[in-house]
Amino acid sequence: MTSPPIVNLDTERAHGLHLGTAQAGSEKIKWRKWGPTAKATVVETTCTCKARVYELGHAGGERYIARIDRAPDQRDVILYAGPMLAGKADRLWQKILTGEAR
Ligand SMILES: [Zn+2]
Repeated sequence: MTSPPIVNLDTERAHGLHLGTAQAGSEKIKWRKWGPTAKATVVETTCTCKARVYELGHAGGERYIARIDRAPDQRDVILYAGPMLAGKADRLWQKILTGEAR
């Protein structure tokens, strides 16, 4: 009998998307306090092991990206980019992940 592969839960499964380092001269996103007015569905989020979490979601047929600064003892600070069409939001999301935009 062979043993099953040993999976390190901490590194293999407990973590989500981690961001690349912001690149020099990266695109500056205009974050604002707008929030989705329709019921939002989260498509993807970055790893919650970081104090700052990014979220790609859609609401009412449009997409948005949220930047969430998690504050353990107070309310999270959430800023938004959008609403945007899906193609634009997906491109911006990829740029955030690679550090081309923040
Ligand atoms: Zn993580």
